[in-house]
Formats: sequence, structure tokens, C-alpha cells
Amino acid sequence: MRIQDDIQLDYCDVLLRPKRSALASRSQVDIIRKYTFKWCPKTIEATGIISANMFTTGTMEIAREMQKQKLFTALHKHYSAEELLAFLKENAKQFGNNDLIFISSGVSDTDYEKLQTVMKSGLVDNICIDVANGYSPYLVNYVQKVRTAWPQALIMAGNVVTGDMCEDLILSGADIVKVGIGPGSVCTTRKLTGVGRPQFSTVIECADAAHGVSGMVCADGGCTVPGDVCKSFCAGADFVMLGGMLAGHEESAGELCTKHFQTGEVDLIDDKTCAMKLTEKQYKKFYGMSSEYAQEAHYGGMKKYRASEGKVVEILFRGPIEHTLLAILGGLRSCMTYIGAKRLKDMPKCATFYRVNRQLNNIFGEE
Ligand code: 5GP
Repeated sequence: MRIQDDIQLDYCDVLLRPKRSALASRSQVDIIRKYTFKWCPKTIEATGIISANMFTTGTMEIAREMQKQKLFTALHKHYSAEELLAFLKENAKQFGNNDLIFISSGVSDTDYEKLQTVMKSGLVDNICIDVANGYSPYLVNYVQKVRTAWPQALIMAGNVVTGDMCEDLILSGADIVKVGIGPGSVCTTRKLTGVGRPQFSTVIECADAAHGVSGMVCADGGCTVPGDVCKSFCAGADFVMLGGMLAGHEESAGELCTKHFQTGEVDLIDDKTCAMKLTEKQYKKFYGMSSEYAQEAHYGGMKKYRASEGKVVEILFRGPIEHTLLAILGGLRSCMTYIGAKRLKDMPKCATFYRVNRQLNNIFGEE
């Protein structure tokens, strides 16, 4: 048994230090990055924010809105090959190509067959290979198999939290390694297994390792506010994947329900009687992909040997996703002017972090 002593940090443990800069306004910064990859020969111009391949956020409706802002979506793997092909055809007509769309795959034979059907169409090149434990030999083998089958593909694979495994996956054929075990908003892996690593430190180490072998990283999970997305890019993430921040919108999937509440206030009817004031609020379900709820909904029940590593929450309905995306991008531009980064890619070299004990003043609530 060993204990690694160096301090491991989360996004909430740090703040960015502002710097004197020549950038006079947010309009002078460029959040579109020209991405080139280790294996995939194509260049993609976009902002590296990816909607997570969860059933609730990896939807075709979210994908349309993400693309309007030049952002990516990893479609969830519960769409059939036919549904995917119909979407990809239509989407390529609307946006010119499917460069901002990832198709998701597990590592089973059925996953591979579906991937073959979709890839055969030539409509999409981006593949997100996703397993909860990226340290399993199945992942490395599957990445090698997919790279051999499609040398031109853009392959993202994960999830891991250490530099050595990032290098392994990249050398096996991945262009991007997805990093994060346990930071997710509806993830209970750390509670159930005791395994995980604070996400900010994960991103710093993994980005350094991946960049060393010409690969990239996607920081997956743990962002709760636009500032966390900025911190993640500054820590070295090339892409940032979001679940919870994009859930609960019109374009997200999940059951919608209405709840009634007593406000605490009363209406005076006369000097002896009063009536309780009621209010109603709408909520949308959001759940972890390995929660018992997801297992029941998408895999026909929970297998006995598995335990739930995710939870179900109800999020206050947030309306159209566009305003949330604009807030995230606005935060990113503003951060870049504070730290003097003209281009998205420059953020890590412009960033100095303070370690902090407290980052927000919530005296009047959390909004
Ligand atoms: P968020 O942005 O909500 O903090 O994190 C999203 C990420 O959480 C997803 O991209 C995925 O990696 C992870 N995730 C989603 N569902 C589950 C789950 O049921 N269990 C675990 N351990 N992680 C999950």
C-alpha cells in the first residue's frame, strides 16, 4: 500500500489570476480553434466544448443547437443505426458536414457491428469510445481495432485519470483521451468504490502526458459553472465535456414533471381568513448512465453483479439551451480578456492559478 502525498485539486480549489493585457474587449479574442490531430488527417475549426454522450444530453436536438455555436456533441449510444444515419444525412445538408458530431460506442461486439453500419455510410468520422473504467485491456484492444479499421477516423477514448494511460491510449490509436473518473454531477463511483481523482489535477497531468505524444485530452465531468469550463481549458484541456450544465433544457431528453409548492406567503381574504399562496415549477429528469434508473430504462434491468454508480436528479426546467450556451461562451471570452489570452489554445500558457479556500460568496443564495 502506498500513499501519494501531493495535493490533488478540484476546480473549486483554484481561481485564475487576472493579468494586465493589451486586449481591450471580448470581441478581440478568438474562441474558435483550428484543431489538428495525431492520427486523423482532418482539421476542424470549432470551440472544444462537447455535450456528453448521456441519454439526456447526447441528443440530436442538443446537437443542432451546439453546432449553431460551433460546439460538438457526442450522440448517446442508444440511437439505432437507422436513426443515426437519418440524422447524419439531414444534418450534413443543414451544416455542410458532420464534423461536430461524435458517434458513441462501447467495446462489445454489438457496439462494433453498429459502428460498422454507421461508418460504412461515410457520413461521419468522429468516434467516441466510452467505458467507465478505461484501465481495462478491452479499451486499448478496441481502440487498436477501430484505428486499424478506419485509419482516417477521429477517435476519442476513455475514461482514465493518469498520464501513463493517456499515453497508452494515444499510442494505441486515440487522437483524444477522455479524462475523469468520478467527478460527474450524477456519478456515485467515488461513493461506491472509493476510486477517483480530483478533476483539476487530473486535467493538468493528463494534458501534459497527452501533449507529449502529440495527442489531446477531453476533460469529462465536474464542471458546474462557466468558470469551471474556463479553468479546465486553462489547465490544458483541449476539449471539455459537459453533462449536468446542459441538462434540464428544452432540447435535453428526460421526463418533464410539474410540482406544486407552498410559497409561505398568504393572501388575506378578510381579517379572519387567509389562503395559502401556491406556485408551480417544472422539472426535468437527469440521470447517470450507470444509475439503476438508466439500467432499467435502456438495458432492460440491472444485472445482479452490477451496482448502481449513478443517481437520478430532477433539475429545474431551464428553457431553450441557447441562452446557457451563450453564457458559457461569454464567460470563456471574458476569462480570456482577464488573463490576456487572444486564442483558446493560448489559455494554459497565460494562466496562473491561486489555490483558494473559498471561491464564491453565497450570502444571498447560489444564483
Ligand atoms: P457532469 O458534466 O454532469 O459533471 O459529468 C458528465 C459526465 O459524467 C459524463 O460525460 C460521464 O463521463 C459521467 N457519467 C455519466 N453518467 C454516469 C454514471 O452513471 N456514473 C458515473 N460514474 N459517471 C457518469
